[in-house]
Amino acid sequence: MSTNTFDYIIRGQGIAGSLLAWFLMQSGKKVLVVDPVRKNTCSKIAAGLIHPVTGRRIVKSWNADVFIPFARKTYLEIEDKLAERFFEDYPVLELFNDAGHRNDWAGRSADAGMSDYVKEECGPGQLPKGIIASHGGRWVVNGGWVDTRRFTDALRRYLMKSGSFEEGLLEYNQVDFHKDKIQWKEYTAGAIIDCSGVDAIRHPLFSDLPFNPCKGEILQINTHGLPKDMVIHGAMKIIPLGGWEYLTGYVPYTISSQFASIRPSTKDRRPIIGQHKANSKIYIFNGLGSKGVMMGPWMARVLTAMLINDIAPDMELTPYRRLPRVFDPGH
Ligand SMILES: Cc1cc2nc3c(=O)[nH]c(=O)nc-3n(C[C@H](O)[C@H](O)[C@H](O)COP(=O)(O)OP(=O)(O)OC[C@H]3O[C@@H](n4cnc5c(N)ncnc54)[C@H](O)[C@@H]3O)c2cc1C
Repeated sequence: MSTNTFDYIIRGQGIAGSLLAWFLMQSGKKVLVVDPVRKNTCSKIAAGLIHPVTGRRIVKSWNADVFIPFARKTYLEIEDKLAERFFEDYPVLELFNDAGHRNDWAGRSADAGMSDYVKEECGPGQLPKGIIASHGGRWVVNGGWVDTRRFTDALRRYLMKSGSFEEGLLEYNQVDFHKDKIQWKEYTAGAIIDCSGVDAIRHPLFSDLPFNPCKGEILQINTHGLPKDMVIHGAMKIIPLGGWEYLTGYVPYTISSQFASIRPSTKDRRPIIGQHKANSKIYIFNGLGSKGVMMGPWMARVLTAMLINDIAPDMELTPYRRLPRVFDPGH
């Protein structure tokens, strides 16, 4: 294969594009990832939590038992192979709002399969220094935290070293589509895989996919006296970043930075993986919504198997699935 010939060109190097490139390359495929290296993309500003428990209803996240162990294993393996550090196995301390909330947690923690994640209570007198919560809280473990900016930077360095990265924008009107290959600039490839997050959502090529983009904002603050080795989750999440820097806060703080981005969510809150219906040389990997860090590794592996072994995708995840009439807002 010549240096300008690739199996796949990946459009976008967020969490989706990075993980897909990783699995395809681990399977011996040659990929070129194209990305403009923008500063504050969704993947770079993400809070980065892998959290097994979802929302006010306190239920296990969709497919948590599949996604979470695989995500943890994948991030640790990538750290190991690249000699980089971006994953922390932080426990989460969920703070109770009131006695009723505490009871809800007690009830839910007895649900099947919750005991792998939801552990003992932390009484008001046992709270870590700097945390005030009159009803105490409960420990949630076996999730973790990914420093997503470090992760995407580490992957980009790896791709660059392997001759698999091109900085810039890939626009479809620059691509020549042939029966057996595509041509973009001086590069040829078997297909393009679109991992461009919210840009795909705005693109006419994907206008009939069930997207439901959702804005998200995050603050980086500087404060003293909070724990550095756990995530605190009450009215807000507090995630330690190293030094006295945190994402969001309770105690007196100064705002170091404020970021906003659009989550590439879907109406049924399921990711999208599969082939474009009118162009067999275009695939899409999108719809990671608010759980890209958690779902991304498994979905990238599923798409890799689809591409390499021609395995049919799960109907629930295909781009043109028929959407159920009533969406479950809890997942
Ligand atoms: C405030 C906030 C907090 C979040 N917290 C969490 C969390 O705690 N846990 C969690 O799991 N998820 C979280 N998420 C969600 C997570 O960030 C997303 O699921 C994930 O980043 C989506 O990744 P992506 O690769 O699909 O898209 P993106 O991150 O948008 O990546 C797309 C990439 O494609 C590039 N691109 C666009 N157009 C082109 C083009 N024409 N050519 C080439 N490249 C192009 C972009 O520049 C970008 O680099 C959060 C999101 C937000 C906004």
